[in-house]
Amino acid sequence: MTPVLRFAPSPNGLLHLGHAFSALTNESIARRLGGRLLLRIEDIDIGRSRPEFVEAIRDDLAWLGIRFDGEIRRQSEHFDDYRRAAERLRERGLLFRCGCTRAELSAAAGLDPPRDPDGAPLYPGTCRRHPPPLERPCAERLAMDVAGARASSPLFWTAFSDNGEEERRADPSRWGDAVILRKDVPASYHLAVVVDDALQGVTHVVRGADLEPATDLHRLLQELLGLPTPRYHHHGLITDAAGEKLAKSRMSEPLRAHRERGTSPAEIRRMFGFAQNPTPST
Ligand code: GLU
Repeated sequence: MTPVLRFAPSPNGLLHLGHAFSALTNESIARRLGGRLLLRIEDIDIGRSRPEFVEAIRDDLAWLGIRFDGEIRRQSEHFDDYRRAAERLRERGLLFRCGCTRAELSAAAGLDPPRDPDGAPLYPGTCRRHPPPLERPCAERLAMDVAGARASSPLFWTAFSDNGEEERRADPSRWGDAVILRKDVPASYHLAVVVDDALQGVTHVVRGADLEPATDLHRLLQELLGLPTPRYHHHGLITDAAGEKLAKSRMSEPLRAHRERGTSPAEIRRMFGFAQNPTPST
């Protein structure tokens, strides 16, 4: 079976050096495994995604000399796939409607609530105890205790690296009653990523270490939806001079600023220790 990898940026800003490193890591592993490399645009956040960022992403990746196989998948064109997957969870009684607003959630959280790995307070269960009226716009959340009890236990995922493979125990409960369908769009990052990885036949997920805790929840969703589970490699994060992880939200310098200053794609590859692209595109 040919390995399949994917690079999956969100078009809510310009790519920075951290994305370049992630895309080049995917390229290098795909090449080593003799696999295919897909590009997926993760644009379910329709309020923040912009067509001009999609164009800029494609242009920056082409400039870096990374070639992708197959069609580009844009998540915003596939909400039906995510709706269908959510329906399967709903039929099994694993979802509940949640009408809590951001303000209600932060008021309920108090001063020092238990938090998920992203730092958000764990859901306090308000709408599980008091289901919201049907006319209220709602998100849908995973009833984590019910979901955990339905899945195999313990649950593992496979981490791979140059040193081989290793089983990691998944602890999805640390995400609490995670949002599966958002209030504004019929999808969420966690649902869309597992549905797409399965639909696209992804066998090896290569992404930043900041997403490693999310893998526990992804593994649980795969199990509940009967989807295959890829192997995972979470690479280190590129930091700035102050040691902070690069992020669009911190206005990290975009890749194209390096390009405009005359840095070449070969220099970027060398900076990260990747060999020159053997057949550079023009
Ligand atoms: N879209 C995510 C990001 O840009 C990546 C998701 C993934 O690789 O699973 O951070």
